[in-house]
Amino acid sequence: MNDMRGHIARLCENLVHLRRYAKAEGLSSAVNGLVDDARAGEDIGARLTDLLRRLGGPEDSQPFRKVPGVILPGLPAGHTAAEVYICPSGLCLRSWLRRPGEPIPMCEIERFRLRREQG
Ligand SMILES: [Zn+2]
Repeated sequence: MNDMRGHIARLCENLVHLRRYAKAEGLSSAVNGLVDDARAGEDIGARLTDLLRRLGGPEDSQPFRKVPGVILPGLPAGHTAAEVYICPSGLCLRSWLRRPGEPIPMCEIERFRLRREQG
């Protein structure tokens, strides 16, 4: 289950850039299909990896380094002073560390604004 939510987070974190690259390659419908299936709770891991490969990104972790914010795969204990934001739905495992002055992003899958994690 966490694997699935991890795949969704990987899609969420990269979606803005994925959409742009996919559009240039004529693969927008593939991206839209992934988003629909992620919202439906389907396992998108293999297809996401395939799509990232076709768009020339590494198939694991973050392919596009321009994604704002810092991804914290396993936040170590004791970082409670940082403002960590998470997707409110629980479907997506994305976490995001806010830097001063940065606007709070949306979860690209669920269309909710990320909310601050309660420490
Ligand atoms: Zn998300």
